[in-house]
Amino acid sequence: MPTYAYACKDCDHAFDIVQSFSDSSLTECPECKGALRKKFNSVGVVFKGSGFYRTDSRDAKGSTVSPAPAAPSPAPAATPATAAAGS
Ligand SMILES: [Zn+2]
Repeated sequence: MPTYAYACKDCDHAFDIVQSFSDSSLTECPECKGALRKKFNSVGVVFKGSGFYRTDSRDAKGSTVSPAPAAPSPAPAATPATAAAGS
């Protein structure tokens, strides 16, 4: 359930309240019955997209670099030639 943050326009009373989506928004301050302002910084919904993309790009760069030194390996080519010459 999302957590909504409200602040009172009249007495500056601020509080968080857990409401379901079907609940209607609060409009009245519980302290002074004044008008509430919804602050919309719900704690439950946090997008961590930037962290995901940073990890993804770093991984892509690492995989591009690592195969390059490992690919050229002329050693296996010499093995069949030696075996053929021995027998
Ligand atoms: Zn108030």
